[in-house]
Amino acid sequence: MADKITSDANPARIISGRVLTEIYMRTNRTLHCLLFIILTAVSRLSAQTNKTVYVIADGIPADVIERLDLPNIKKIIAQGSFTRMHVGGDAGTYNQTPTISAVGYNSLLTGCWVNKHNVPDNDIKAPNYNYQNLFRLIKAQYPAKKTAIFSSWEDNRTKLIGYHLPEAGNVDVDYHFDGYEKDTVNFKHDIASNYMHMIDEKVVTAASSTIKKNGPDLSWVYLEYTDDMGHAHGDSPQFYNAVKMLDVQMGKLFEAIEFRKKHFKENWLLVITTDHGRDEKTGRGHGGQSPRQRNTWMVTNYRPLNTYAERYQPAIVDIMPTITRFMDINVPVNVKREIDGTPLIGKVSVAEPAALFVQGNLDITWKAIDPAGIVKIWLAKTNDYQVGKPDDYQLIGEVAVKDQHVFISVKDRPSMFYKLVLEAPYNTVNKWIVPEAKK
Ligand SMILES: [Zn+2]
Repeated sequence: MADKITSDANPARIISGRVLTEIYMRTNRTLHCLLFIILTAVSRLSAQTNKTVYVIADGIPADVIERLDLPNIKKIIAQGSFTRMHVGGDAGTYNQTPTISAVGYNSLLTGCWVNKHNVPDNDIKAPNYNYQNLFRLIKAQYPAKKTAIFSSWEDNRTKLIGYHLPEAGNVDVDYHFDGYEKDTVNFKHDIASNYMHMIDEKVVTAASSTIKKNGPDLSWVYLEYTDDMGHAHGDSPQFYNAVKMLDVQMGKLFEAIEFRKKHFKENWLLVITTDHGRDEKTGRGHGGQSPRQRNTWMVTNYRPLNTYAERYQPAIVDIMPTITRFMDINVPVNVKREIDGTPLIGKVSVAEPAALFVQGNLDITWKAIDPAGIVKIWLAKTNDYQVGKPDDYQLIGEVAVKDQHVFISVKDRPSMFYKLVLEAPYNTVNKWIVPEAKK
């Protein structure tokens, strides 16, 4: 055996003398080829356009979406992710938010709770457009990008987005298929509310064909039938059947997106969520702060969600900064300082900010998600942003993100109200502090 090895070793040495150089050069060529292929693939990927469709399916509690057999939604989750989330703001605090439809839609649109966006019910009397929405932000930075809305409810465009309203930034929406609730000829209103399912079908057909044909950069699809069935029947076969119909509709939408991905250089983010849950006892009502009314969910074709999404408590307000991040929308600093959400994708530095007013000091805490870098602590004593004017933010501290707390005297800045902003390398969070209310 040893002889064999020795005799075999000789030709090998000869090979190493002459042929190895050849092998090395070939390998080198192969490596170069491989590198070239990788670089081409990367540059091709970076040349792709990022587009988003988000769907609000009305009034489906988290447990219902999790319990039912929904093959299309399951397929989307298999490609992407599922997370529970919540609506309703922080219960019992200054930003507690009613678990009502238009309130939830506007929390998604603006990334803010009701104390800022000022849509406390479905009347939508006086939205505060100073808290700029997704449609406005995308058009401000990318005027050529196209937006779309597909919805039974016309108010979503005319009042929430603020279509063509000077006070909402004269925002345009390129494709709009909405207001079908008012069309009693084509959608004859019946007591069983079947017409609302027909409207949703119309909405999904319009969305799928527009996406396939025109590929708008940002689309909002709103579907209502589930909420109607929830109100009429509560937890019931009728309500669950409506959710199954929604599942089929999501299959059509997903197919349209897959079509675009296949035929165009486009990355598509699909987000499906709901605006509120339903009450524990019957499943008919909503609007309050009980856990099942607050518990919502998000289905997306994106993965992976970040540590914040996986380990903390995602909320409907997180969807807006997630979309701006995915679409590379540069949010102006004054807008960013007001956003109550945290991105669910990519790196995040800080989450769950909290502040106590302690005898003229602020006891400020946060959770360090990515511990790198410094958090800048800004304080304003005004809330002029609410009326469209700038606030005077002062830098009151700079602390390592990983420290997760700081105690700062504000005795020389007495006020009945403070706005606190924590600006960290990968994200910015904020908190209101009302010392008198803390008595
Ligand atoms: Zn609703």
